[in-house]
Amino acid sequence: MSNATLPPSPRPVVERIARHIGDPVTRLRFLQIVGPSMVLPPSRRLKYLIPVALGAMAAGLYFGGALLWNAFAARSARPVVRVAAAAAPVVAGPPRLPEVWQVDSSNQAEVYSNGLRIDSHYAVSTHPRAYLAFPVSGAESSGGVRRQDPAGIVFHSTESPQLPFLPGENRELKRAGESMLEYVQRQRAYHFVIDRFGRVYRVVRETDVANHAGHSVWADDQWLYVNLNASFLGISFEAQTPARGAGPDGSGETPALSPAQVRSAAVLTEMLLARYHIPRGNCVTHAQVSVNPANMQAGYHQDWAAGFPFERVGLPNNYFTPLPALTFFGFEYDGFGYDPSQPSPAGGIYAGIAAAEKSLRETAANRGVKPAAWRKVLERQYRRRLAQVRAVEPAGK
Ligand SMILES: [Zn+2]
Repeated sequence: MSNATLPPSPRPVVERIARHIGDPVTRLRFLQIVGPSMVLPPSRRLKYLIPVALGAMAAGLYFGGALLWNAFAARSARPVVRVAAAAAPVVAGPPRLPEVWQVDSSNQAEVYSNGLRIDSHYAVSTHPRAYLAFPVSGAESSGGVRRQDPAGIVFHSTESPQLPFLPGENRELKRAGESMLEYVQRQRAYHFVIDRFGRVYRVVRETDVANHAGHSVWADDQWLYVNLNASFLGISFEAQTPARGAGPDGSGETPALSPAQVRSAAVLTEMLLARYHIPRGNCVTHAQVSVNPANMQAGYHQDWAAGFPFERVGLPNNYFTPLPALTFFGFEYDGFGYDPSQPSPAGGIYAGIAAAEKSLRETAANRGVKPAAWRKVLERQYRRRLAQVRAVEPAGK
């Protein structure tokens, strides 16, 4: 249902009330609070609007003080926003991000409004993030734009040994998790780890760089990112990719996650997307971004080459995105014996490789060059970007 199909809205009433609020910030806040109620069906809209309007008049006209008004607005706001969000109609396009805020914070843990709890016992600092992002349409000679906020998320698996997930193993499961976390902390390996019980641990602070992605490449509609340790946050699941052929379907390529791990990944991702306005298309797996500049092969690290539960984590299936390492920089991919001349196996990273190969061949044909020659052009562009990125990375990286 769009706004155009709604009966005449009570908006003028809201605006009349708003005009009585002297302080512009308070007025804006009021309008933001009652704004979402416009998407409620008329009967419910009235139901929620009346208390807000009455409260507004009571506070605004009788008490007048901005302080009292703020106290009222804070109390009234949450139920209205929450109900409105639940009743919002389904519309085309990416779903809107719900508001997620920090409810409580101590040295030990943080709690968020969407149920996320982050344990801080293993938190460490490294050095503050700063990185270059390159405009996709920019000339090869152009420098990047310096940025500080995370541009995306890379999902990993810890590849630590896995015990049977059974009540009788509880003590050993806990011990294995602790030793894994100590290792991750020593290595400054990820920003977050989700253990087998679904507990979320902060390791490297969000403001800092973690050693999670090494040589890597990703791109969205506007920006190219080279080496994602600084530009992307790293979330790792305590999980292990089984040996090839060992999986229940014979593929052996998909680490097993507990349902609690998937639920925690969804609320953690939701919080980070809301906090940093990260595009959903920039939430990808290590196998999708990993490259090896020594031999120009993509997929050097292969965690989550298949089976990452994108939809259950609240993300689109980004395995279908053509791999930017191939389309922008001419990397090749022989992971899992990929052969572009053969029909590609369904699912996982193969979808993105096949799409990228097709795109690269079409671009080469349009330019009247062979794919191999076009790859050489792209490789030069990669080397140039890599040198630019290294120039701003801290020494020793
Ligand atoms: Zn990884």
